[in-house]
Amino acid sequence: MKTDITSFVRTEIKGFGAYSAAKAPEEVAGETDITIENMIKMDQNENPYGCSPRVNNTLAHYRKYHIYPDANQGEIRRQLADYTGMDASCIVASSGSNTLLDLVTRLFVNPGEGVVNFVPTFDVYRFSAQVCGGKLIEIQRDANYALDITEIKKVTDKNVKLIFLANPNAPTGNLASDSDIKEILDLGLPTVIDEAYYEFSGVTVLPLMKTYSNLMVIRTFSKWAGLAGLRVGYGIFPPAIAEYLHKIKIPYNVNVAALLAVSESMKDLDYLRGNVKRIVEERESLFSGLKKLDWLKVYPSSANYILCLVLRGKASELQEKLQKRGILVRYFDKPRLNNCIRISVGKPEETAAILKALIEIGKSV
Ligand SMILES: *Cc1c(COP(=O)(O)O)cnc(C)c1O
Repeated sequence: MKTDITSFVRTEIKGFGAYSAAKAPEEVAGETDITIENMIKMDQNENPYGCSPRVNNTLAHYRKYHIYPDANQGEIRRQLADYTGMDASCIVASSGSNTLLDLVTRLFVNPGEGVVNFVPTFDVYRFSAQVCGGKLIEIQRDANYALDITEIKKVTDKNVKLIFLANPNAPTGNLASDSDIKEILDLGLPTVIDEAYYEFSGVTVLPLMKTYSNLMVIRTFSKWAGLAGLRVGYGIFPPAIAEYLHKIKIPYNVNVAALLAVSESMKDLDYLRGNVKRIVEERESLFSGLKKLDWLKVYPSSANYILCLVLRGKASELQEKLQKRGILVRYFDKPRLNNCIRISVGKPEETAAILKALIEIGKSV
């Protein structure tokens, strides 16, 4: 039998654009003389201070990796209830918050139904909507990436099932105003507010959950707690929605190592918050350093990264020149982010290194 198996693939997947992740250091290593150990990773908003040392210690000594985790997420939900001040019945944990964004999309969106995105924004919302066969409705942000009320009010499409809003937005770094958020919630449609960078911004919509039964909040341990590699995130939902999500999630969706890591992180909050504070302070010194370069337009950020529009030369070439010096950043060439780079906030010595490199590069652009 010579079957063309690809002819069985769902039609909406055929023209699908994959999520474009940053290159792994191993992949970059072939393109530069700098060793992986000496690379400065400012491309994926990871925590330069790593995770709590308690995590390393506990994972090294744990002896029951052969036993499945608790499918009901009992302990992690109680810990997250303490951390967020919300009830455990509202909480769903997942292997990274991205899989939870995907799960929520699968809960609400039938093929052909609308998913609203405030663009430019985090690409996973588009990704999940399209994998489900949903129809993307892109609402443009204004010139400074703020939400645009008149545009929001146009969302009257009866077919809309889900709205995504990253707050702070990625990769632009800005927060939405309270009144804009309420305007969106007043549409009465299921709305996910992605607070992946909450610990850096200090701003949350959680208190609004009392008033708005259409609000869902998603968070992650990847950035502030330094657990990106272990993949653990969570969301806070109206209890009935949490119950549905628990039903449709893959069993054992958070692995034992990730559960232990959360548990240890919760015992080391002062340490982790100290690192968050360092990163927030460092963001301000990176910001003022970048501001001095007249060939970059620098956007203020409430997260742990800074977006810059490259005013002279090409962002892609700038990214390559930095990479040659062992400094990894992201560049964007999509609509509204044309010729932009995004720099994750690192340690003080990493700020010094990138500013030095940019000053040198700037002499010839
Ligand atoms: C990094 C990031 C996440 C986190 O994804 P994980 O799967 O939890 O690592 C979620 N949303 C946004 C906007 C992000 O930038």
